[in-house]
Amino acid sequence: MAERNEKLLSELLKFPGNTVCADCSSRNPEYASYNIGIFICARCSGVHRSMGVHISKVKHLKLDRWEDSQVERMKEVGNTKAKMKYEERVPPCYRIPKEDDPQVLIEQWIRAKYQREEFSYPERQTYTSGYFSGFLMKRGKEDSRYRSRKFVLCEKDDTLKYFVIEHKEPKAVLRISELNVIFAPEKMSAYPNSLQITFLKEGTTRHIYVYHNEGEVITNWYMAIRCAKLHRLQVAFPSANESELANFLTEDFAREGWLWKTGPRINDGFKKRWFALDNRKLMYHDDPMDANPKGEIFIGHQSDGYGIKMGVSSGVKDQGFSFMLTTPDRIYNLSAQSELDRDLWIEVLERVIERPVTAQDIAVSNRLVRKRTNANSLFSPR
Ligand SMILES: [Zn+2]
Repeated sequence: MAERNEKLLSELLKFPGNTVCADCSSRNPEYASYNIGIFICARCSGVHRSMGVHISKVKHLKLDRWEDSQVERMKEVGNTKAKMKYEERVPPCYRIPKEDDPQVLIEQWIRAKYQREEFSYPERQTYTSGYFSGFLMKRGKEDSRYRSRKFVLCEKDDTLKYFVIEHKEPKAVLRISELNVIFAPEKMSAYPNSLQITFLKEGTTRHIYVYHNEGEVITNWYMAIRCAKLHRLQVAFPSANESELANFLTEDFAREGWLWKTGPRINDGFKKRWFALDNRKLMYHDDPMDANPKGEIFIGHQSDGYGIKMGVSSGVKDQGFSFMLTTPDRIYNLSAQSELDRDLWIEVLERVIERPVTAQDIAVSNRLVRKRTNANSLFSPR
């Protein structure tokens, strides 16, 4: 009997839709939620278990014993049918997680689907209205201590504000259309439910770091920013396709990590810097959690004189895993931590250099160039 059920389950696994996890699309799911009727991966099965058996009953496909009725349920539902039910009304601004995405995003997606049933009852989606407010713990720029700050998102005004003292003037006003937001659980390792918000202020990038104890709250903030961005894009580009616009809401850093970098003079030694590639903007910092980058390099298209290659420019000592980033102004000699690290940096930078430059990219570049020119005329290069 048990053998028969195991065989039936492995047959069902080959059905279209069942070959990937119902929640994160990773390949070869090994578990199932047998009351919901879906095939899921090990990671998502942990989230299902944490919701409790009144929401989801989890079994391993091979290591657990299956009743006939349970196998029957799996046959009756399956991933495709379950998706139609539980993902019926996912708003277009919602970021549907993939297998390597941060835990908080996957966890809240699963809870939103099966526990809160947000995508069956859209009135439960508190983040789509264009207005969102609440308290988040924000890291202080000077002392790095976290303090509770009120944040208010207003799509109509294109602003995200935060207040040190409620009802007084905001401490900062960010343009929703000009900011980027990413999950930051690795950088802020003590706070798994954390975000890094990046925006331009007076020609330079500013990073702020926030967290909340509730994963649901931080995810709702993330989605609220995305929804407001999408609505504003829809107003600006009324004929554009909605799902196409949804690709331009937020963008994770393509790569982040330590690199060694030389100054502009041949005798300048290599200095360790934290690099982050945000779309076409390569920023470097003393510390990963700095509020401002020390420098920012706009990376344009290859036809405009941008290039990347292995090695160092003549006269510069090779650090072992060196590569050169060429811009119309300057050659940057950089060095990675390992061969693999270097190859991965070259790969992501190559992709940027080959990608056509958009109007939005040019707007960012203009604001950065202005700052660089000022800095060069006032200070010695950093
Ligand atoms: Zn999964």
